[in-house]
Amino acid sequence: MKLSIKDLSPAGKRVLMRVDFNVPQDKEGAITDDSRIQGALPSIQHLVDAGAKVILMSHLGRPDGEKNPKDSLKPVADRLGELISVPVKFAGDCIGDEAAAAVVDLNNGEVLLLENVRFYAGETNNDPEFAKQLAANADIFVNDAFGTAHRAHASTAGVTDHVEQSAMGFLIEKELEYLVDKLEVPPRPFVVIMGGAKVSDKIKILERLMEKADAFIIGGAMANTFRLAQGYDMGKSFAERTDEAMEMARGILATAEKNNTPFHLPADTRHTLDFCDDAETECTGIWGEEGTAVPADREGIDIGDVACKDFAEVIASAGTVIWNGPMGVFEKRGFDIGTKAVGKAMAENEKAITIVGGGDSVTAANQFGFGDKMDHMSTGGGASLELLEGKELPGIAALDNK
Ligand code: AMP
Repeated sequence: MKLSIKDLSPAGKRVLMRVDFNVPQDKEGAITDDSRIQGALPSIQHLVDAGAKVILMSHLGRPDGEKNPKDSLKPVADRLGELISVPVKFAGDCIGDEAAAAVVDLNNGEVLLLENVRFYAGETNNDPEFAKQLAANADIFVNDAFGTAHRAHASTAGVTDHVEQSAMGFLIEKELEYLVDKLEVPPRPFVVIMGGAKVSDKIKILERLMEKADAFIIGGAMANTFRLAQGYDMGKSFAERTDEAMEMARGILATAEKNNTPFHLPADTRHTLDFCDDAETECTGIWGEEGTAVPADREGIDIGDVACKDFAEVIASAGTVIWNGPMGVFEKRGFDIGTKAVGKAMAENEKAITIVGGGDSVTAANQFGFGDKMDHMSTGGGASLELLEGKELPGIAALDNK
């Protein structure tokens, strides 16, 4: 069990907290979505209330070791100041004299945001000297940036070698609670929904969850690959068409059959001639019935109407649902029907533990208005996939054990 922010006695201590303030911005630099800042507020407020000197650090964009003003965190400091009741100070550097002076000026219960840690190449290289400089003004380290916890960077891992204590913040604690603890003995049936582009990206999760899940639901272009592997005609659909991918898909299907685990592929597929918003679409017949195919000039872009109904039924009877990857090209109007149907079925199953595993599925759940109905919406795409694969994340492994 990792040390938690709740286990600390931070009064009067300099607490350096890694947060994920990598917010989306428009061309003028205005913040277009502040949910990552909002997400860090519980940990920040906890430390403020406890009378700590709160020093925040984050990356923003990809400055690749250069001090690019476009990637400055100053606008984030301003926004954070509007969201929290204490003044937020800003230091124009994350190490060196400027950072040190700003920390000396900091009173108990005050907040300081340091400039972008990725202005130094030592951040992503996990350079021990850079990590030491980051930690020079801190007594305690807290990691609350789940989205970068799968990377061994100076601000997520290296820094822990140079402080008295290293703990996880509330965001990471909740991610572990849902993506690890609750899945140890999940209320059953445990249904895993996988979609998105490629089987090869998610094969390790499929294999790992095969031991635990009671049923799988597969959608997105992934489902096209499985249908191809079964010998069906998928027209111009996006799919992984290599021999290797076919073998991988057949291997998964064989394991599911051997284990007697229901593996729900879409009964039908929605396809189109034109890959654009509001294009005309049509559903195939039922796969396996004579003549069912995606026509040669058309592309499967979503699950069909029968599949939507089937999947909703499986989800309605679940005790635990984890969802990773859209059922179709949900970014285009009219190709989002399957993704909406799955999100809706999860939102309506109030007795189940519902977990949305990061990235596009979180975007989709929010876009369609189901986000606040889910028990957990992961704040990390790559990090949540790695946790589900059973990997140890360096930014969590480096924290103190209790
Ligand atoms: P991933 O990052 O693997 O979760 O993949 C997400 C992407 O898969 C989204 O951008 C979707 O548009 C895309 N996608 C889902 N279904 C299909 C499909 N049938 N054909 C092409 N792309 C798809």
